[in-house]
Amino acid sequence: MIVMFEHNHLSELFLQKLELHQKEFTFIKHKNLFIIDSKQQYLLEKFDSYKVFDVKTPYILSNKEIKSDFFIDFNDFSYSNGDFIIIAGPCTIENREYMNRTAQFVKDEQLHFMRGGAYKPRKSPYTFQGLGKDGIEIFKEVSDDFGVKIVTELLDIRTIDEAIKYSDIIQIGARNMHNYPLLKELGKIDKPILLKRGLSASIDELLLAADYILSEGNDNVILCERGIKTFETQYKSTLDLTAVALLKEKTHLPIIVDPSHAAGNSKIVPQLAMASLAVGADGLLIEMHPEPSCAVCDGEQSLQLDQFSSLMVKLRELATFFNKKIV
Ligand code: PEP
Ligand code: MN
Repeated sequence: MIVMFEHNHLSELFLQKLELHQKEFTFIKHKNLFIIDSKQQYLLEKFDSYKVFDVKTPYILSNKEIKSDFFIDFNDFSYSNGDFIIIAGPCTIENREYMNRTAQFVKDEQLHFMRGGAYKPRKSPYTFQGLGKDGIEIFKEVSDDFGVKIVTELLDIRTIDEAIKYSDIIQIGARNMHNYPLLKELGKIDKPILLKRGLSASIDELLLAADYILSEGNDNVILCERGIKTFETQYKSTLDLTAVALLKEKTHLPIIVDPSHAAGNSKIVPQLAMASLAVGADGLLIEMHPEPSCAVCDGEQSLQLDQFSSLMVKLRELATFFNKKIV
């Protein structure tokens, strides 16, 4: 059991007393919260007032008992409870023309975010690894020209400055969900982080990974269910929509769904996207390409622009039904 207490309404005197007793506590100070082990609860008797959150889960700061809503500020607009974010774009940045066509589409659909990887975590070292910095620069030009926001993956701590400079949301891919030193560094900035669930990560492990970022001070975390490994071989991964429904009960963090990397097949992406909205997700990350048959990677799971348009019509209807606002 973990006990936490708020100090934002408490007196300076209280805080001074607390500092005096610092040596007796092994605590984590997080903004207005102190996290201490329940075995040390007796020490609280020394203090006049405190509020205790009795959190029984291994993850703490992502627990819904601590906070019930999310709020992410993107300067010109915010993302909060009831909003449904849609991030669309190719698996990887290939050239300016494809990025222009995709950005125009995103803008025409009145969406804000476009995805595209410059550094790709490929299974094989012999396949296309992404355009790297050249790719990010193409993406930034397109983003400025069309007024769309950038979501791109940070693969390696050595390119963190680039990711901070160019992206509006930094994506941490499934393979890096367990990269704790990287997560800690992302906790020290305030840029929103899109944290994808590891291929074999449990719900607790996902939320603990989020806590690695939150506990360093960055509250802007968006979770992403992208399918997990199971015995089934007919699709890439099993989209765990049960986890999405459960996560909505367990955490205040927004949870979006990537149906593309789960399905591995564009034919079933729209169905999974609609099911995600219906199950309570707070958004979608979808692969889309102006010419999927020519895509360097993941073309088979990328929607064509007209397919995406048809999906948008259905998603807008469903969003009205479920009282969600598409952003
Ligand atoms: C991606 O979204 O580009 C990606 C590589 O996904 P994941 O990390 O979920 O495999
Ligand atoms: Mn991909």
